Amino acid sequence: MLLNEKYEAVIGLEVHAQLATDSKLFCGDSTAFGAAPNTHISPITMGHPGTLPMANKKAVEYAIRMGLACNCEIEKDNYFARKNYFYPDLPKGYQVSQHTTPICKAGYVTIKTAAGERNVQLNRIHMEEDAGKSIHDLDKDFTCIDLNRAGTPLVEIVTEPDIFSADEAWQYVTEVRRLVRWIGICDGNMEEGSLRCDANISIRLKGEKKLGTRVEVKNLNSIRNVKKAIEFEIDRMIQLVEDGGKVQQQTRSFDASNDTTFAIRDKEEANDYRYFPDPDLAPLHVTDDFINKVRSALPSLPNELVKKYQSQFGLSAYDAAQLCDEKETALYFEAVSKHTTQYKAAANWILGPVRQYINERGIDFTAFNLQPSILAELIQLVESGKVNFSVASSKILPVIITENQSPLTVAESMNLLQVSDTNELEAWIN
Ligand code: ADP
Ligand code: MG
Repeated sequence: MLLNEKYEAVIGLEVHAQLATDSKLFCGDSTAFGAAPNTHISPITMGHPGTLPMANKKAVEYAIRMGLACNCEIEKDNYFARKNYFYPDLPKGYQVSQHTTPICKAGYVTIKTAAGERNVQLNRIHMEEDAGKSIHDLDKDFTCIDLNRAGTPLVEIVTEPDIFSADEAWQYVTEVRRLVRWIGICDGNMEEGSLRCDANISIRLKGEKKLGTRVEVKNLNSIRNVKKAIEFEIDRMIQLVEDGGKVQQQTRSFDASNDTTFAIRDKEEANDYRYFPDPDLAPLHVTDDFINKVRSALPSLPNELVKKYQSQFGLSAYDAAQLCDEKETALYFEAVSKHTTQYKAAANWILGPVRQYINERGIDFTAFNLQPSILAELIQLVESGKVNFSVASSKILPVIITENQSPLTVAESMNLLQVSDTNELEAWIN
């Protein structure tokens, strides 16, 4: 479309990830999802006078883990700040966040685009606490409030305005979800709200350097909705400007029933949060030693493994990417590759028959018990011509999975070995 050649979209995303700690950011209340309403709420969560919050070390560790995975600088002198606003599900009347000292600064997330890989620049990753939940559809006369979620630790991962299409936004959120799962800091479950996204969107004429006025679409709870909301906003704003109008700075919400957005407040009504350092929380000093410990416990990251599989194991970019889509698959491939040098065959086995076996049973690699060394033996049997691939995958694989037996023994007992020795074959023919 012509208009797309005239305008450029600029997008900045704020992703909130609930940290997978057992307890809350400033007290020992459980963070378990799905408990009976208002059962995980101590006086500290409620912010009763006289209570003293204390920072959760695991949450700090997880935030740093994410920062290191995104190549950020880690802030050593951290302060928690109160962000004051009134909301029925915010029991204290303020949210504890980080204002001037986000724990992670700068950094980037690498995404795949049509034109190849690109680094989306991050502005910061900061820690904050989640609010409770208002439930509007449970009772016809009242809004119900469940404060179990209040105080759950979050990291907010904020990009620079460095995303330029709905597809790139899709790739970015997909990659962030893979990363948080990979490093084990968040389950990445968007339906349960463990990962939520606010999208800031503006348009400008191509070639223009200055950013346009932005709108912010709040609380997108699926990757699909992130994409749909951005597509809708870009079209809406272009249409508005083409019709002689001006984009208003607004906060908007997404209506998933028809893939549109609607305004919920204008800039004039924007909050003044009256930030100030939380007097009940001591400044948090992070030592080099702690950062180094977190760094050394970090697993190999998916992009590193993709590169390794291509350069060291000679796999195609496609196979390498497939293997690294989920950590469990990559870990299993890693384990098999310790027992064979037939890397291409190992990739084919894992992405083919093994994955099919797993998918058909609705399990995942963590529940897949075939010893990697035994799969490597089966691969060797096929590569040396003793059994053919189709017999190995359809007949031998299911048996060795359930019995963890030597593939050669199984092949022998099922009479599946093929003879490739020409002399022996000739003798038979004669
Ligand atoms: P706030 O805290 O008020 O939401 P920030 O300045 O922290 O504002 O920005 C939030 C997000 O909005 C960031 O991801 C940033 O990159 C993005 N952003 C800021 N200005 C624009 C703009 N004009 N167009 C698109 N995204 C923007
Ligand atoms: Mg914002």
